[in-house]
Amino acid sequence: MVKETGFYDTLGVAPNATADELKKAYRKLALKYHPDKNPKEGEKFKQISQAYEVLSDTKKRDLYDRGGEKAIKEGGTGGGGGSFASPMDIFDLFFGGGSRMHRERKGKNIVHQITVTLEDLYNGATRKLSVQKNAVCERCEGRGSRKGAAQVCISCHGTGMQVRMHQLLPGMVQQVSTVCSSCQGQGQRINQKDRCKTCAGRKILRQKKILEVHIDKGMRDGQKIVFHGEGDQEPGLEPGDIIIVLDQREHPRFTRRGADLIMSMELELVEALCGFKKPVQTLDSRTLLITSHPGELIKPGDTKCVLNEGMPTYRRPFEKGRLIINFSVVFPPADFLPKHKLKELERYLPEKMDADQPESMDDDLYIYADLEDCDVERRRRRNHQYYYMDEDDYGSSEGVQCHTS
Ligand SMILES: [Zn+2]
Ligand SMILES: [Zn+2]
Repeated sequence: MVKETGFYDTLGVAPNATADELKKAYRKLALKYHPDKNPKEGEKFKQISQAYEVLSDTKKRDLYDRGGEKAIKEGGTGGGGGSFASPMDIFDLFFGGGSRMHRERKGKNIVHQITVTLEDLYNGATRKLSVQKNAVCERCEGRGSRKGAAQVCISCHGTGMQVRMHQLLPGMVQQVSTVCSSCQGQGQRINQKDRCKTCAGRKILRQKKILEVHIDKGMRDGQKIVFHGEGDQEPGLEPGDIIIVLDQREHPRFTRRGADLIMSMELELVEALCGFKKPVQTLDSRTLLITSHPGELIKPGDTKCVLNEGMPTYRRPFEKGRLIINFSVVFPPADFLPKHKLKELERYLPEKMDADQPESMDDDLYIYADLEDCDVERRRRRNHQYYYMDEDDYGSSEGVQCHTS
């Protein structure tokens, strides 16, 4: 039992969620509420980030499960204080895989999610994606002006910051640093006439880029495809990356588990007993004829598999997983056979375990108990069966106990 579920609720998962489920939940929400896409949802973005930060760490999750948010804020027994990392750092680590130190010398990464079908991941696919990004102006090569036309800002001497003294009380002065207002923190000034006509002195331009995304056979939900150096450019910095995250839509028939595909199949009782041939459409539109030969028998809940009909392996597409089939068996409706025919059917089935005929028993020793549906709301349908009891149990007999499964 967990103490509170706030962090789980934030991510929309159950308290017993697996690490994979947590990752998936964070991925979806973080992309949805990222300030780039949803500038008004900064608080929500922060909450998602904090919840993920705690729950993705086994030790912190354990601490939270036992003591709730209070325990996290107090930092647990080991001390160290319970402060959270910045939401952007968590995001960068999750999607970019790089550390912040590395990131600061680079332009911003652009993260995009694309929805793919299980068919796309099975067969491979190509998608065209249009991305907006910042590019360094080619005309002025990111200087914003003609060569040599930029002058060091006189107000801040090129630092981009202004330090002002602010008197709080007589004899008590506070130093306040602000972004230089004359140059907007650029540290330099360009005369109006020298400004680059293409970028108007801004050094960067907004650019539209069409990316061709290759989805390889066997890729997974959540897998990242990285276009190195295709992200935002800034003068003097290494450009960021464009990171494409695959989001697999649920398939109506197949569920993927690693390299295996799982499906369920319903059989009629006669098929389960006497064999069947059933077509299954594969993800590349072939038809498999699932065959159980006469004499083979499928029981309700049986699991069987077809080798090499699962998902292809990433980068080794000819190696495929299994197609796993979970069987259920539908019994015929009540009274599907006239009563006199039942005796005939019985002849073909294995003999009853207790072959004693009730007629031959002494009636005084037994109470005949009927089976009823456990669900009292439903109309009562009667199946007749005999319930054997010892004399000692007579007083307490109230009928047969039902077990729903
Ligand atoms: Zn300045
Ligand atoms: Zn320019």
